[in-house]
Amino acid sequence: MSSQTQSERTYFMIKPDGVTRGLIGEIIHRVEQRGLKIIALQMVQPTKAQMDEHYPKDEAWITRIGGKTLSTNEKYHIDTMAQMGTTDPFEIGKRVRGWLIDFMASAPVVKVVVEGPHAIEMIRKLAGNTMPALAEMGTIRGDYSVDSAATANREGRAVQNLVHASETPEEAAHEISHWFAPEDVHPYRRTGE
Ligand code: UDP
Ligand code: MG
Repeated sequence: MSSQTQSERTYFMIKPDGVTRGLIGEIIHRVEQRGLKIIALQMVQPTKAQMDEHYPKDEAWITRIGGKTLSTNEKYHIDTMAQMGTTDPFEIGKRVRGWLIDFMASAPVVKVVVEGPHAIEMIRKLAGNTMPALAEMGTIRGDYSVDSAATANREGRAVQNLVHASETPEEAAHEISHWFAPEDVHPYRRTGE
């Protein structure tokens, strides 16, 4: 098998809004329909400490999150200084990360490990753009989420966009081992594989 077709694993999570809106089945269906294989699945009520461990803590990641907020504000002509009291992407990122942790621990989530060719990229593609307004139709976020980053920032909360999906092999490895014991991951052959 060439490295290009090699199967990989990714982690994804149906966020509190996906669970409370009754979209578990719809979201899982899209993953299975695509031909990707679910090899671990569980509902859990995360603690804030678990969410804090889940999301990266490094400055680069936090600054990137703050940068997304800044570019949203720029696009919608929102005065970031007036709204947040700072324009420093790291400071803003820390605040958004805090909102995100509160949101993720606000209701049960469904945690999932998925295996398949290019699983990380495929699940990202199924999820769609982080910001609902930019997510294409046909993606989970594009079809079912309507939240606005501008409103979320103003209200001091995370953007509700239904799913989390690992972005890199490093994120996937960290998240899988953070959320699942090895014995709770169940590889198998899908019919036709
Ligand atoms: N987020 C937010 N405001 C922002 C950027 C991100 O509320 O300006 C939240 C949003 O819920 C997002 C999560 O933080 O899903 C993680 O951000 P990331 O940039 O990693 O997006 P994702 O990987 O979820 O597409
Ligand atoms: Mg991310």
